[in-house]
Amino acid sequence: MRIAFSPIYHYKLPPKHRFPMAKYDLLPEQLLYEGTVTKASFFAPEKLTQQELLLTHTEEFWRKLQAQDLSRKEIRDIGFPLSLKLVERGLHIAQGTLACARYAVKDGVALNIAGGTHHSFADRGEGFCVFNDIAIAANVLLSSGEISKAVVIDLDVHQGNGTAKLFEHNPNVYTLSFHGARNYPTRKMTSDLDLGFEDKTEDEFYLNEVARIIPKVLDEQQPDMVFYLSGVDVLAADKLGRLSLTTQGCRERDRLVLQACHQRNLPVAVSMGGGYTERLATIVDAHANTFRVAQEVYG
Ligand SMILES: [Zn+2]
Repeated sequence: MRIAFSPIYHYKLPPKHRFPMAKYDLLPEQLLYEGTVTKASFFAPEKLTQQELLLTHTEEFWRKLQAQDLSRKEIRDIGFPLSLKLVERGLHIAQGTLACARYAVKDGVALNIAGGTHHSFADRGEGFCVFNDIAIAANVLLSSGEISKAVVIDLDVHQGNGTAKLFEHNPNVYTLSFHGARNYPTRKMTSDLDLGFEDKTEDEFYLNEVARIIPKVLDEQQPDMVFYLSGVDVLAADKLGRLSLTTQGCRERDRLVLQACHQRNLPVAVSMGGGYTERLATIVDAHANTFRVAQEVYG
């Protein structure tokens, strides 16, 4: 089981952003410490090339990022202070997801300790997302002929608006988003399948929908690659989430998705997505569960 991780993932932002970034540091440590993975599982992705980037993002957006020439509003929408380092970080994360997709084709599953930047559009970023890692990976593999059809299973609690918009007219990428109906983004885009949950939705209802819908979509769409966005901001403890899943429920969700892929021999590349609890340990544990379940299902 290969895992993408680079020291630049936890590049130190100004203090108010440090807390959410700390999980990128702690998660690999935890996974190694408990023996879920070994050091040999990790690889450090290089930077995505410009050519690969421009299959998804506009030249104008790329030019503005390189020149650090975004408007105040564009920077505010991204939510992080703009720097060349932030842009570079995005390129490494996107390459991580792309490399994971290629490893998944060989091994069944591969996971990126970052990514899931689904609020990024062709020409702009928002909601702490600069580049759309899953869209980039899907477009590179589709254009090279390595895959012919992908399904994006986006279970982060926020709608995958950027991904939905990027693949709006692309029959080769099926986008599915389960999210909080009242969560950010207020203005949702249209995925191929959107399911908005009411506030305080609990394990039983949520997991029933996952078990009912996701295997059916995989059977109907017949993809040759799955991208899974495993955001753990569905937890009741999440500060931004509005849903009420338990840590165990969230783990069960990961199991249902990964088993559905495994049973169908579908390679799955996992991007980590959001998670913002008061207690850092809660979030690290919930993200670690995704890796533990992957090890159980594929190990
Ligand atoms: Zn989220």
